[in-house]
Amino acid sequence: MFKAVREQDPAVFGFLQQEFARQEYGLELIASENFVSKAVLEVMGTPLTNKYAEGYPRNRYYGGCQYYDEIEIIAIRRARELFGIEHANVQPHSGAQANMAVYLAFLEPEDTILTLELAHGGHLSHGSPVNASGKLYKSVHYHVHPETHLIDFDHVREQALAHRPKMIVCGASAYPRHIDFAKFREIADEVGALLMADIAHIAGLVAAKVHPDPVPYCDVITTTTHKTLRGPRGGLILTSKENKRAVNSAVFPGTQGGPLMHMVAAKAVAFGEALKPEFKTYQEQVIANAKTLSEALQGKGVPVITGGTDNHIVLMNVGALNLNGKQCEDALEEAGITVNKNMIPYDPNPPQVSSGIRVGTPALTTRGMGAEEMKQVAQWIVEVYENIDNADVLKRVRDDVRSLSQAFPLYPDIVAAAS
Ligand SMILES: *Cc1c(COP(=O)(O)O)cnc(C)c1O
Repeated sequence: MFKAVREQDPAVFGFLQQEFARQEYGLELIASENFVSKAVLEVMGTPLTNKYAEGYPRNRYYGGCQYYDEIEIIAIRRARELFGIEHANVQPHSGAQANMAVYLAFLEPEDTILTLELAHGGHLSHGSPVNASGKLYKSVHYHVHPETHLIDFDHVREQALAHRPKMIVCGASAYPRHIDFAKFREIADEVGALLMADIAHIAGLVAAKVHPDPVPYCDVITTTTHKTLRGPRGGLILTSKENKRAVNSAVFPGTQGGPLMHMVAAKAVAFGEALKPEFKTYQEQVIANAKTLSEALQGKGVPVITGGTDNHIVLMNVGALNLNGKQCEDALEEAGITVNKNMIPYDPNPPQVSSGIRVGTPALTTRGMGAEEMKQVAQWIVEVYENIDNADVLKRVRDDVRSLSQAFPLYPDIVAAAS
């Protein structure tokens, strides 16, 4: 392993070594990240990257695709089984690409979409003015309630009635509670809108049936494959048989060229893993860990948005501690704990500073950590907040973090092979 790149390209290889060590000896608390299995890793680094396979199984624009056809068929079949849905498109290169393809499939330019406000947990690809979705389509937003910070369905309905959107988008990047797809369906029906769920964050929880199911309520569902779903980086679109043609042609040729077939093959392997009973146990532990972390933080005086969590996300209000997201992110990084600053609802700070820290448990849970470790992590986070400028404390926490991570090895043979 790594013999060729080590010899040929020491500049890049040096950073590979450092990144492998960063992952192995740090604590990954970014809610959108996870660690794939060795099987998924293996498949990504294969000669499958070498080939064009534009088109779909048995209907390609290039010769030599016979094995790719079989692999993509397996990926599609497993995705359908995993989510209990009629059609899956496994080719989107990412979550944002999946969303653009869905908009192209169902909307005309200038049509209105109604989505969760970015600062309240939404996503750039839900009509932000800096994203193509906001330039091509007219986007209006709903918000969370100013006190409870839960999605304000009275406001969703008001906005739907006022703007008559062609499509309502539900799903979020920083929302720690269940998404009530049935309620969104009611409102969509009332105004004759399509309903799209973007389950990028929660797809693993949905697949394991530990989060309410969007399938009975939504016209189309998009997701990433690399967050809680624990596959390779990529996107996925799920829909009914009736929408199959529209969605497929919006992915290719609508918004993409050739699929990344090494990634499609890795998705197939990851979906196979997600169909196993262990995956449900894993997702249950992801949620249990998030609840433990949330309770431990609150017990030590760190307020969390909505007062808890239903999923893998805990959004801390560090503004309430007279800190800001930027300084907390930097100090935690110094202590070996990787997180991201995040806007909280009605945040007085600009996004580059922000008043929140978003954490999630998928990655630590993949390493095998449980309740005891979550309590320890909460303790370290609080120590960092209380000693934000104290380099000695941050260093001591970093050493402790390293010891804990060594007790829960991630890819030890890869680190060894690269050292
Ligand atoms: C992460 C995320 C995306 C984008 O996924 P990429 O693969 O980064 O393009 C889209 N929507 C939501 C809700 C997300 O959380």
